[in-house]
Amino acid sequence: MRESAERTLQSAAKKLGMSDNDVALLVQAEREHVFDLTIGKGEHAKTFEAFRVQHSSRRGPHKGGIRFHPQVDIDEVRALAMLMSLKTAAVGLPFGGGKGGISVDPRHLSEAELEELSRAYVRHLVEHIGPDKDVPAPDVNTNSVVIDWMVDEFERLTGDTTKASFTGKSVANGGSVGREAATGRGGLHALQEVLKRKELERRVITVAVQGFGNVGYWFAKLASEAKNLRLIAVSDSRYTLRVNEGLDIDAVRVAKLRGGFDFYERGSVTSAEDIIGVQCDVLVLAALEGAVHIGNVHRVKAPFVLELANGPVSQEAYDGLTQRGTVVVPDIVANAGGVIVSYLEWLQNKANEHWSEERVNEELQKYIVRAVDNMISTADASRISYKEAALKIAIRRLNEA
Ligand code: NAD
Repeated sequence: MRESAERTLQSAAKKLGMSDNDVALLVQAEREHVFDLTIGKGEHAKTFEAFRVQHSSRRGPHKGGIRFHPQVDIDEVRALAMLMSLKTAAVGLPFGGGKGGISVDPRHLSEAELEELSRAYVRHLVEHIGPDKDVPAPDVNTNSVVIDWMVDEFERLTGDTTKASFTGKSVANGGSVGREAATGRGGLHALQEVLKRKELERRVITVAVQGFGNVGYWFAKLASEAKNLRLIAVSDSRYTLRVNEGLDIDAVRVAKLRGGFDFYERGSVTSAEDIIGVQCDVLVLAALEGAVHIGNVHRVKAPFVLELANGPVSQEAYDGLTQRGTVVVPDIVANAGGVIVSYLEWLQNKANEHWSEERVNEELQKYIVRAVDNMISTADASRISYKEAALKIAIRRLNEA
């Protein structure tokens, strides 16, 4: 993943005419923290490897999540930190990029151990993070509970009471309304803007969504409320559910809570992989990295692919898709809704304000629409793909900064 992220960045930067030295500076993280954290005492002590990569602060404080996962390693954190620098730059946020993680399976820890580990992570990094240095957020297997512990530890150690040291807090503890739906909502704005620019917004567009977690669910829910979209298929890690007349997403959610898509009253239920080949206008990838790869890219029938997961189309698959004329809306713009609302949370904390959900959603839409318009204009002017255009904008901004 790191090699592929670096290669993508290097080739885009070289196309912009940057010198080898500037390219190397762009790829290199400013600082990497790799450390062990021990919780418990004596025979109950447990030690975990922890990471924080601060990739770039050229445009503002480092920004990026902290994931708790047994497979977290330095290469993954490096790649994700770099992706964050590109994402914040592509959508014009005054933030840089960073990422953190602990190599741990949180299911094997008690709640008290999880809290001890979360607080220990902050104690180790306290000199290097904070509202104007590095503002972490939740990621895989971390949530507002973990972040609230971290903020509390940061406040205890530094006396900072702005709450702007982390985003993704609970709303009662300074979090922003609208954060939960933000990535799915931002993805929908991105899609609608692309359809508008292609003069397709008056047609009924059929949509299939891979992934029914936070991002996939919210995208599907909001898309099913849009008049011009018809959601015809969703998938999770086990099955694809397909109803050509359109899905009732609330009923799908209830079916999933009852045990799975089998409990939905209509449609066909087939293997999880089948979502890739659904005949539709837009395939939304909201589950995993590398979901479309060289082995299954031939199955994709949709003329539009919306990347809501990070890196859900491998480079080889991407080359195949673009050769066929498929339009890929790239992750660094399409899934930036989460980090945009994180920025809005940080702004609210700094000003000691609490905005309404309406205001948060309006601001989110403005950022996404501006970023998509900029990306499409750059792509059209230079006759390059949306992904190349988004990278070009991000790299140029990073380089200028
Ligand atoms: P999540 O854990 O809530 O959901 C992931 C979903 O993917 C689950 O429904 C899971 O069942 C499904 N899944 C797993 N394997 C699958 C498979 N083979 N086929 C179909 N579905 C499968 O995660 P999330 O927060 O929704 O994030 C999804 C992706 O979006 C991740 O790549 C994440 O890094 C990225 N992302 C998330 C955010 C955010 O705000 N949550 C922001 C930017 C990017």
